[in-house]
Amino acid sequence: MKADLPGERFWEKKPLASLSKEEWESLCDGCGRCCLNKLEDEDDGGVVFTRLACHLLDIEHCRCSDYEGRQVKVPTCLDLRVNRVEFHWLPVTCAYRLVADGQPLFDWHPLISGNRESVHEAGVSVRGFAIPETGIEELEAHIIDLL
Ligand code: SF4
Ligand code: SF4
Repeated sequence: MKADLPGERFWEKKPLASLSKEEWESLCDGCGRCCLNKLEDEDDGGVVFTRLACHLLDIEHCRCSDYEGRQVKVPTCLDLRVNRVEFHWLPVTCAYRLVADGQPLFDWHPLISGNRESVHEAGVSVRGFAIPETGIEELEAHIIDLL
């Protein structure tokens, strides 16, 4: 699927705080990784990911099934536009985290490739391995190593 995206390389020219809503939303690569349950080490604050996806995530399409109402239905779902201090919870591949750290986007990012499927084709999205969190209590048994 061809991507319909805003102006060229705007993320290299503007700080995150200055992005329009359209630009902000287009910066999301659609990987779905941020919608996986995570665990934080009490001692060193390190974050690990599990393969367990939020119950609102449409795993096949890696999209929230109720994006507008997500914070009502899932109060722990953070709005990144107002919670930038929480970027350490994001995967290292996340475009918001990369831009915030002054790093370039990966070649598979839809804003670079021009193709929204490239994040899946590159094996970065959760499409191939995530499972729904519903009914699972032992998060530790589902820890994964996300690169
Ligand atoms: S990890 Fe970042 S780029 Fe990937 S879906 Fe979440 S917000 Fe978007
Ligand atoms: S509510 Fe939606 S955006 Fe938030 S973690 Fe769940 S699936 Fe992801």
